[in-house]
Amino acid sequence: MSLMRIGHVNIRVLDMAASINHYCNVIGLEKIDTDEAGNVYLKGWDEWDKYSVILSEADSAGMNYVAYKTENDADIDAYSAAIKAYGIDVEDVPAGEMADCGRAIRFALPSGQTMCVFAEKVAVGKTVGTLNPAPWPQDVKGAGAHWLDHVLLVAPLDPPNGVNKVAENCDFLSACLDFRLTEQVTVGPDADIQACAFLTLGSTPHDIAFVPGPTAGFHHCAFYLDGWGDVLKAADIMRMNNVKIDITPNRHGITRGETIYFFDPSGNRNETFAGLGYLAQPDMPVITWSEDQLGTAIFYHSGELNEAFTQVYT
Ligand code: CA
Ligand code: FE
Repeated sequence: MSLMRIGHVNIRVLDMAASINHYCNVIGLEKIDTDEAGNVYLKGWDEWDKYSVILSEADSAGMNYVAYKTENDADIDAYSAAIKAYGIDVEDVPAGEMADCGRAIRFALPSGQTMCVFAEKVAVGKTVGTLNPAPWPQDVKGAGAHWLDHVLLVAPLDPPNGVNKVAENCDFLSACLDFRLTEQVTVGPDADIQACAFLTLGSTPHDIAFVPGPTAGFHHCAFYLDGWGDVLKAADIMRMNNVKIDITPNRHGITRGETIYFFDPSGNRNETFAGLGYLAQPDMPVITWSEDQLGTAIFYHSGELNEAFTQVYT
């Protein structure tokens, strides 16, 4: 069985029109569909499945769920059995309940966020097609993001009370869903408390990650850009569109990614992310960042976390 990548994220937004403008005209996704309930489906130009982002209008921001795509339908049964054996409840999701997708399973991470695994989704193809394709579409908007790359979720960490949902999530996803730990931050007097965990499914540095916080939440979803020049241009586009930027173009120590953090109109954090950093081969040794270098791990140049990084999330 092989889980391949993040398939989609369902984000709650307060104002659908403003959100569509943000995700399409600033990030550069394409609006593909709207369902009867008013949910809006978007994809990046370099993605072939029908959508990677679902926007759902709601009274509060945040993430409803994140879905990962596996290669074969039969994998779903194997993952379901592994998750149940681990002691986590699994709900069967019939084909079609997730729009344009086959059957799926739904379960809660140890930190509480909802995750789904599916194998089939209607494919509409890359914008540039598959026959003698152009390297990028000339009518791409905004930052021109290629694809949804990863989500970063906040997991409760309270060592004095024996709570470490970062480590529990890492153990669960490694044991049951074929994720592999690539990088971690360890803290505490014996440096044995896993406070951040970055996990991959393939050879990119991460497909999901966890940072600690007082309550479980949605820290950000990230969209992939080609390179540093694209990151700089993306920040220009954000400024021109009055997007609230959290962190201007910078480098992460962890993953070596080139990054901008910013907020959608509902306050959900987004990232545009370039530089695949390195190839996370299956036998790559895990990279560890120590507590005294936590700031450097996140923001390499300043070496300092801004207050919003750990305190503001949806
Ligand atoms: Ca990735
Ligand atoms: Fe990220």
